[in-house]
Amino acid sequence: MKCYYDLHMHSCLSPCGSDDMSPNNLVNMAKLAGYDIIALTDHNSSLNCPAAVKVGENAGITVVPGMELCTSEEVHIVCLFSTVEAALNFSGYVEEKMMKISYSRDIFGNQLIMDENDNIIGTVDHLLNVASDISANKAVKIVSEFGGVCFPAHIDRPSFSIISNLGMITEDMGFCNAELTALADREEYILKYPILENMRLLTDSDSHYLENIPDAARYIQLEECSAECLVNYLRQPPKL
Ligand SMILES: [Zn+2]
Ligand SMILES: [Zn+2]
Repeated sequence: MKCYYDLHMHSCLSPCGSDDMSPNNLVNMAKLAGYDIIALTDHNSSLNCPAAVKVGENAGITVVPGMELCTSEEVHIVCLFSTVEAALNFSGYVEEKMMKISYSRDIFGNQLIMDENDNIIGTVDHLLNVASDISANKAVKIVSEFGGVCFPAHIDRPSFSIISNLGMITEDMGFCNAELTALADREEYILKYPILENMRLLTDSDSHYLENIPDAARYIQLEECSAECLVNYLRQPPKL
């Protein structure tokens, strides 16, 4: 079936995400915008995924639990999981692999954990969008050990991307997918980085604010619109 997707979205847990990106606001706005499946990928944490997944179940839109991992090279990698439990296990692992830097909420913004009714049930007191000590070329192996799948985020951006920070994507990194922003010229990127020819190229919004969520425009074909089907689909290289 056709599933309109956006696999990279932030909530009020990301310091750079708006406090208005509560689980209910985010999920219902995505539903209104026409998505069938979205992923919640806050920086280095999945702690708002339990609430967002529950809201999605009630609203009739699939929410995939995930995270945007910041590697030791400050490369952003979208990590997605079939279950909340797997995402939280990975989140706990990443928590141990991050520097704990205290920060000013006035400068960086809040990092709010909410329940499925948008009540604040906690905060994270160390800055989440910092490097972990997980390297980009170990990401696929580690994330798959936790039952997930991952791909480099916004590879056409001039910062925090695998190409800006490492200069390339190599086969031994093991990625089957890569994310380009909506602004990228796909053909130009494929010509410049031929490895992309053999990869599935996804485009997500990386929304941090409700008003950033664009109308659904891209779909993938899944057997069913579930987190499990999506993760299995993304694990397989594209059929060329
Ligand atoms: Zn990013
Ligand atoms: Zn992001």
